[in-house]
Amino acid sequence: MTYNLACKDTGIDCPFVAQGKTMDEMMEVAVKHAKEKHGYTDEQLNDPKMQKEIKAAVKEE
Ligand SMILES: [Zn+2]
Repeated sequence: MTYNLACKDTGIDCPFVAQGKTMDEMMEVAVKHAKEKHGYTDEQLNDPKMQKEIKAAVKEE
């Protein structure tokens, strides 16, 4: 199984898709990308509303 998180599914106009074999692995990639490319902070990413939006956008394949 692969976990995918497309940046565009979180409302950002960006073609990046984070992938990982586990949720944690994928989230690590997604968080790194969000910080480096979109300037998000840990505080913003750990916000419960943001966490909910992120989890809603995750696809399992
Ligand atoms: Zn992005």
